Amino acid sequence: MTFTEPQPTPLALLLLGHGSDANSEKGVTCPGDLPAPSDPDLVQRAAAAKAALGDRVFILGHHYQRDEVIEFADVTGDSFKLAQQAAAHPEAEFIVFEGVHFMAESADILTADHQQVVLPDLAAGCSMADMASIGQVEECWAVLEDLGIANVTVPITYMNSTAAIKAFTGRHGGSVCTSSNAERSLAWAFERGEKVLFLPDQHLGRNTAVRDLGLSLADCVVYNPRRPRGGLTDEQLRGARVILWQGHCSVHGRFTPECVDEVRERVPGIRVIVHPECSYEVVSKADVVGSTEKIIATIAAAEPGSAWAVGTELNLVKRLAQQHPDKEIVYLDRTVCFCSTMNRIDLPHLVWALESLVDGTVPNRITVDPETAHWARVALDRMLALPGPTASRD
Ligand code: SF4
Repeated sequence: MTFTEPQPTPLALLLLGHGSDANSEKGVTCPGDLPAPSDPDLVQRAAAAKAALGDRVFILGHHYQRDEVIEFADVTGDSFKLAQQAAAHPEAEFIVFEGVHFMAESADILTADHQQVVLPDLAAGCSMADMASIGQVEECWAVLEDLGIANVTVPITYMNSTAAIKAFTGRHGGSVCTSSNAERSLAWAFERGEKVLFLPDQHLGRNTAVRDLGLSLADCVVYNPRRPRGGLTDEQLRGARVILWQGHCSVHGRFTPECVDEVRERVPGIRVIVHPECSYEVVSKADVVGSTEKIIATIAAAEPGSAWAVGTELNLVKRLAQQHPDKEIVYLDRTVCFCSTMNRIDLPHLVWALESLVDGTVPNRITVDPETAHWARVALDRMLALPGPTASRD
């Protein structure tokens, strides 16, 4: 195994989730009375609490989570697979989600009423999901209505969005998508309308429209929610086939084409595999593009001795390097950080959440109101009804 530990950037050191931010997907400080990170018994305490809860608890671990909490996950996967897994375990009264807020919302939408979803740290939001608030999206839709083009526009939202945005999509005839079924989702949308409003990740939208559906870059415009009418002219909005929301993942958005050039120079013969949340320029230089599950499967199937530069979240890349010592696995950038919000879920938070459940308190419960849940479910069900395999990757 070869794995060079990247150096954390100042961004990695940002402390998120402190105080209150009304514009954030979450933005509340975790109320928990947490055990000290230095407590030598944390692993034993987590194991004991989990054992005490037995089948009453089911722990979901997203691929981007730290090893110290993944160790306690009953299942690992991407956000949609995890939500499905929660629904497939109705015996579990408590679903503890090692992930971020929008994922816990999706789990609440897809699970039965008696199941309670717990996010160990409420400050674990997602900066991409935060880039599209429901108010901003409704304002954008009003602009499209004003131009007389809303009725030919189908909204598609990436799984990585709030329940309110998913519900908006459901209400307006659209669907949710994941990074592995985005092509089918967009094709489905173009069978129903002339245009697509793609939320909130501009990169996944552009990569899918141009690389998979054969549209041109000129067919896409980027709607900036912080500018009047998205910062676009009426002609630009009328002429666009795909209106991309100006959102991105703060982790995948940091990879650059220069990272690809640099790693190819540093490791001759290396193959580059990246997530489609990376920019069009990065994706265009990669050898393989795919969801987290595709990245995992590709590396697993690769021949021993092969070398891979992986452009996705660092926890997953480190784990892949550990799991495949017969391959050379390097991070695509020397300096890019972890997903700081994913990293909010650490062992002290997990111990606190599990011990609270043992004591009869449900901490940090994530709920979606019935009206929002209904329409979000409509959008999720449209995705599930898409032809082809029920792929579910983010
Ligand atoms: S990796 Fe990106 S998309 Fe995923 S939770 Fe972090 S910021 Fe959001």
